[in-house]
Amino acid sequence: MYRLRSRLALFISLSLLPAFSASAEALSLNDRALAAAEQLSDKAIAWRHDIHQHPELGNQETRTAALVAAHLSSLGMEVETNVGTTGVVAWLKGGKPGPVVALRADMDALPVKEATALPYASNTRQMYLGNEQDVMHACGHDAHVAILMATAEALAGMRESLPGSVKFIFQPAEEGPSDYVYDGERYFGARQLVAEGVLHDPAVDVIFGLHVTAALPTGMIAYRSGPTMASSGDLHIRVRGKQTHGAQPWDGVDPVLASAQIVTALQGVVSRQTDIMQAPAVVSIGTINGGTRHNIIPDEVTMSGTVRTFNDAVQAQVNERIKNTAEHVAAASGATAEVNIVQNYATTVNDPELTAQMLPTLRRAAWNIAETPLVTGSEDFSYYAKEVPGMFFFLGVTPTDNLGKAAPNHSPGFLVDDQALVTGIKAMTTLTTDYLEHVAQSQ
Ligand SMILES: [Zn+2]
Ligand SMILES: [Zn+2]
Repeated sequence: MYRLRSRLALFISLSLLPAFSASAEALSLNDRALAAAEQLSDKAIAWRHDIHQHPELGNQETRTAALVAAHLSSLGMEVETNVGTTGVVAWLKGGKPGPVVALRADMDALPVKEATALPYASNTRQMYLGNEQDVMHACGHDAHVAILMATAEALAGMRESLPGSVKFIFQPAEEGPSDYVYDGERYFGARQLVAEGVLHDPAVDVIFGLHVTAALPTGMIAYRSGPTMASSGDLHIRVRGKQTHGAQPWDGVDPVLASAQIVTALQGVVSRQTDIMQAPAVVSIGTINGGTRHNIIPDEVTMSGTVRTFNDAVQAQVNERIKNTAEHVAAASGATAEVNIVQNYATTVNDPELTAQMLPTLRRAAWNIAETPLVTGSEDFSYYAKEVPGMFFFLGVTPTDNLGKAAPNHSPGFLVDDQALVTGIKAMTTLTTDYLEHVAQSQ
């Protein structure tokens, strides 16, 4: 799936670096950051195991937030807690003036029953949509938190030399609040934090974030410039007809048939009505519910689905056509369709200039990097990157011999190779130091 490019020569030259470095003062910030990352790797692994064993659903991340806040406080940072709901934000002021880099990790887990044999496997249960559910860090956000905690420690250790500041954002509910019912007022984690001003005071200049993935080998990084991950709209359709006896359908209006026709017609929205040369799109119906008995035509059928696109114009167009199609197909048989599309994730767009500028940094941090194809998964990192230039990248967490067989993110058998964490710490610390130095040198 990913084009692999060997960086072996660079890797060898890097591993020789310490031989040329007589003292800490002679080392560049990048060298110091890479060395600190190596030293903090074991600590990060221990943190991740602890967090993995105690996963928490969106907006319930109190234990995780307390762990993070205690660590950041111990590093001498000013720490703000209960941001949004359970978010933790800290500001590391460098010894020299300069821009503000934000680094983001998401803290929430998923309602998934863990099926790994790990000694630190979860047996936590929490409330999800009104029911108690098994909870697991099945998306690897435990790794994101541990990586950013170690990054904070690495950067705090070189605070005096930093030409600028760093804002650490540990956000809740990337996967959504665990009691989420759309009311038009509450958002998923990142959007909520942005709405509450997390990117201001001090104003953030750029933001970086990462996501672990089972699809890449341990320690490999994949990046993309421009649109990278899809926007995601939750599609809800309510089809209303008129209830009648199944033996006499002409006496009523059948919402089941209208719904079947709507499902079929919706597939024409992408294949016939969307300019796929601009950007791809996906429309999928995931649930369809209606009726109580084999010989009763019901009053109503409800459906839900997901809409994925890669730019705002295409998103608006697809949403409009879904509405149009569902309403008119229903009307043809005398039924009505009420369409509601809730936009929970925007398209994640990596700033092309920032991505190009930081590529050498990623090359140095990882043993291998490659460009990723578009990803139809979604991320609420998108809401930060809508406000300030951002770059979001992927970190492989699957040992090479298990590649292609490893359980994907969100599945009960999802595993994170501990050896990948050091690459994440290296990437996050050096993206920060290199960006700050780049700005300082260009002034
Ligand atoms: Zn996820
Ligand atoms: Zn995730």
